[in-house]
Amino acid sequence: MEIIERSAAQIAREVNARSLSARDVTEAVLARIDAVEGEIGSYVSVLHEHARAAAARVDERVDAGESLPLAGVPLAVKDNMCLVGTRTTAGSKMLEHWRAPYTATAVQRLLDAGCVPVGKANMDEFAMGSSCENSALGVTRNPYDLTRVPGGSSGGSAAAVAAFEAAIGMGSDTGGSIREPAAFCNLVGFKPTYGRISRYGLIAFASSLDQIGPLTRTVEDAALAYDVMAGKDPMDATSIDRAVEPTATHLRTDLSGMKVGLVKQFGTSELGGEIDAVYRKAYQDLQALGAELVEVELPTADYGLATYYLIAPAECSSNLARFDGVRYGMRVDGADVHDMYEKTRAAGFGPEVKRRILIGTYALSSGYYDAYYVRAQKARTLIARDFERAFAQCDLIACPAASSPAFQFNAKSDPYSMYLMDYYTIPMSLAGLPALSVPCGWTTPAGADRPMPLGLQLTAPLFKERDVLAAAHAYEQKTQHAAAHKPAIATVGA
Ligand code: GLN
Repeated sequence: MEIIERSAAQIAREVNARSLSARDVTEAVLARIDAVEGEIGSYVSVLHEHARAAAARVDERVDAGESLPLAGVPLAVKDNMCLVGTRTTAGSKMLEHWRAPYTATAVQRLLDAGCVPVGKANMDEFAMGSSCENSALGVTRNPYDLTRVPGGSSGGSAAAVAAFEAAIGMGSDTGGSIREPAAFCNLVGFKPTYGRISRYGLIAFASSLDQIGPLTRTVEDAALAYDVMAGKDPMDATSIDRAVEPTATHLRTDLSGMKVGLVKQFGTSELGGEIDAVYRKAYQDLQALGAELVEVELPTADYGLATYYLIAPAECSSNLARFDGVRYGMRVDGADVHDMYEKTRAAGFGPEVKRRILIGTYALSSGYYDAYYVRAQKARTLIARDFERAFAQCDLIACPAASSPAFQFNAKSDPYSMYLMDYYTIPMSLAGLPALSVPCGWTTPAGADRPMPLGLQLTAPLFKERDVLAAAHAYEQKTQHAAAHKPAIATVGA
């Protein structure tokens, strides 16, 4: 198998055994990036020199006898995460030329474990979107069909891993931004429990929801990356001080003794006949692996979107107030300081970001605060309680990861149709739960000439990351859906 196609686990094994050098892996991946970026556009910045220097350090450490869990593994870093000295744009004109003064904790932990950062990945501006089309810094295409979006907001990280331009992609998920692009690009995408991974150095969108996690080609790789990133960080007061159970050493090959809940409110028949059949088969396969299927109810899940689209914009309006032309990034001069603020924010933010700031500011304004924001917080509590009740009857919940397969560019012209993509992922985000998308089959959209992947979402109670990854691994090993089709973009020299 070509170096670029190997999993993170394989690469680390070989680099630790010194049968392959981090340098060779890095050169192979940089060559791949140079060959395909013109068509895919995963990266906002490719870090040739940075990567070579990091690879040399990994090789030195391995030569000195160290064993590193992710030795030599090429890493795509979403461009809302800081890597010292590199441009960190969050997909926005506002930060187009901004350089990070320090490194995010999650990124640092992966680097310490042996990862080699090869590029900063494209994303929807400030992580608002589901297709990467809201990036101000370029187009990213889906490696499985170049006429389609890679999903979002972590679309660059997803495209990079799917097109063999990295083995691990870092994503951030506020309402689905890891799980949806994973589903669209035939990957595993894992959002841990809120607070499990430090947000220090992650440019904030909605602080009570934002969570970092990995996008990978295998469940084992997601577990390895999670194990390295998880844990308390004194630099993030919301990171949780609770022992992290290692997951990569506890992957399973069956689901005996596990109860899997199917949500009554999340029927799949309206997703279309072929897609419905894929999910029904997925649930049968969980049963064939030994799981007992039970029906559970999430009666308030339907309020998820409305709740999220008050809480997330409210938090975003407050978080993005810092981009005022004084402290970070872009400044457009004006007649006085207020004129400068206005001109800077008018020029620096794109339309979706402005829409969210307006909605959020309105929802937080006096007179409307109780009617909108406080009510949304109450609805959020009800949704979390629904999950608690459901988890009294099961260990995991299975449902779709996205409302459709990857769609074509410019297909979602009104914001609401874009928001609907996250119908299945937002309730878990509001409840802070660990959730993962794993490839579960393929569908050929009307008029398309290539099949597109679909994702099965598995959700567990708070802190049960191990159960999610263990079950996803069993399912992946039995079904092997990811291997059924190759990306539309050839592997160099394969
Ligand atoms: N698509 C959702 C939004 O636009 C979720 C984005 C995310 O998880 N960052 O807000």
